[in-house]
Amino acid sequence: MLAFECEGRFFLVDCGADATREMVRAGLDPTEVAAIVLTHEHPDHISGFALLIEKLWLLGRRAPLPIFGPESALRVAEACFGVYTTDKWDGLPERIYHPVPPELGAPVFRDETFTVTAAPVEHPVPTIGLRVEAGGRTVAYSADTAQHDNVARLAAGADVLHREPAGGPCLSGGGGRDRARCRRLAPGARPRPARRHGRRAERGPRRLPRDGVGGGRPAHSRLRPPASSASARLVGATGRSRGPAR
Ligand SMILES: [Zn+2]
Repeated sequence: MLAFECEGRFFLVDCGADATREMVRAGLDPTEVAAIVLTHEHPDHISGFALLIEKLWLLGRRAPLPIFGPESALRVAEACFGVYTTDKWDGLPERIYHPVPPELGAPVFRDETFTVTAAPVEHPVPTIGLRVEAGGRTVAYSADTAQHDNVARLAAGADVLHREPAGGPCLSGGGGRDRARCRRLAPGARPRPARRHGRRAERGPRRLPRDGVGGGRPAHSRLRPPASSASARLVGATGRSRGPAR
């Protein structure tokens, strides 16, 4: 999962494991989550959805939950939740689904803090990468993807590109070619060797590099805003399981 926070407001991206626990570890109050964005339907990104909804309810969340993502991901998430008997869960927050069209620059949501747009990337199922603007900072998130021009478009001018190499020729770790590719995606950022797809998830928090490019394993980070801007930070934890690229 990733969580983007600015000025005390935050939203969640994906929930492949126990996202509530990760939010608490990141110092966030899960009941205050403003929105949930699901990048795609693979289990390592949404299998914790039902648990997330249950825990939010148990913690006292009652306000409706806006949920964004490709239509297929929303359908799978709700289907997973729907297998449970919840009719006696009084006050269960309403889940309001907003499909994101597979278009470059597709609006995801915009509020007083965040402007979030999306673009389809290259993966075996419909998947969106994200561009998040808040507090004078811009962060791009590739989601699971092979090499795709839309990652560069999402990252154009961004302060940070967080990448998830997956599925064939991609931005996987190390090597001069990869570093050169990263420079093209996030000019000005110093590329760091990324972990290859398939490393074990849940190895605990780690800081994202502050200089622009990171990805490929669980991450937990705080980014300082420009001195002139309001408080902003990115808090994230991403996880994937060992095995072939999905
Ligand atoms: Zn995937």
